[in-house]
Amino acid sequence: MKAIVTLNAGSSSIKFALYELSADGLRFDAGGKIEEIGTAPRLRARDAKGEVILEHDWPQGDILSHEHLLDDLFAWAATQLGDREIVAIGHRIVHGGTAFAAPRPIDDALLDALADLIPLAPLHQPHNLAAVRALRTLAPHLPQIACFDTAFHHDLPQLATRLPLPRAFHDQGVRRYGFHGLSYEHIAARLRDADPERAGGRVIAAHLGNGASLCAMQEGKSVDTTMGFTALDGLMMGTRSGALDPGVVLHLQTQLGMSAKEVETLLYKKSGLLGVSGASSDMRTLHASGAPEATEAIELFVRQAARQAAALIPALGGLDGVVFTAGIGENDAVIRARICKSLAWTGLALDPDANGANAAVISARESKVLVRVIPTDEEAVIAHHVAGLIKSVGRSVP
Ligand code: ADP
Repeated sequence: MKAIVTLNAGSSSIKFALYELSADGLRFDAGGKIEEIGTAPRLRARDAKGEVILEHDWPQGDILSHEHLLDDLFAWAATQLGDREIVAIGHRIVHGGTAFAAPRPIDDALLDALADLIPLAPLHQPHNLAAVRALRTLAPHLPQIACFDTAFHHDLPQLATRLPLPRAFHDQGVRRYGFHGLSYEHIAARLRDADPERAGGRVIAAHLGNGASLCAMQEGKSVDTTMGFTALDGLMMGTRSGALDPGVVLHLQTQLGMSAKEVETLLYKKSGLLGVSGASSDMRTLHASGAPEATEAIELFVRQAARQAAALIPALGGLDGVVFTAGIGENDAVIRARICKSLAWTGLALDPDANGANAAVISARESKVLVRVIPTDEEAVIAHHVAGLIKSVGRSVP
């Protein structure tokens, strides 16, 4: 039996999944996450029934690189494979620039081109590519496939890609790209399955996790999105500021004497929920806290999300549907209710019981806007792309 592995290597976590590939299609077999890389790495894997099949903690202070952890992960995977043979690995690659609009096999030239995009996604791209390189050493003959988070937004209307800067910058790549594309691709597909009529309508998808963004979709395609040139733009996030008056960045550097690196660390790692609360980047922790700073951080998160959702409506010319996804979007009824309350002027009304139960449809019967909760599954999107490529070019993906 053939198998496909998916990898999503971030700065502090590596998500992975194993899928069986048969004539009937793909079947999720097992998956999990290594978290807290750099401090106290912790691995959890579950099977298709959700049962924990592997737990491993690396002792506190045992600071291991991504490469070491991938090595351990593959050693474990080898013991789990039985008669299954891994035929390809699919990677989430955050930035595909303007050139890469579809998944493709990774060769030296692609790896170099993707390394050139590191300055556009300094928090994510280096880790994505480090995983590719580590696996090239571990399993040199195994085909690796890049699946891009920017690809879903590749055909954004021209105007949605432009920043109000002199034209020459746009031509050098200083433009809006959009991210979380694998998640939005999944949402668009599930929406087509569940509700073909409304999937063709005007929908805002809200990916609210540690990273957070909104995507305005029409006919299941991205027409506008809150993340732009980098994954720092748009909504307030766990540790990222989101959209900011650019004058703040100038002030930090010219008046407060911060270096570019210090500003980068501040905006990517110390801001957002963490910065405003002064306590945590984790929404659950903030809800439990009760401290006024934690409450204010939550209120600002909601305000930013509602404000930016409203700002996407002109691109759609109206609103037929809202979809919530990712950790906060799928689980946090309080945040969903508050964002939706701010959008009540669109005719949106929630059903509080359905919302409290994280039901698939959470809008009230009389609501003019249908509100759904759809769990995201970026790993499944990657696995499907890899399976599609294997089918189209046979086993010999380079
Ligand atoms: P990532 O971007 O790392 O994939 P996730 O999609 O897992 O992030 O989202 C993480 C966020 O989701 C955290 O702020 C976490 O507190 C929040 N979250 C996860 N589960 C719940 C829950 N049951 N209730 C409220 N928030 C949750």
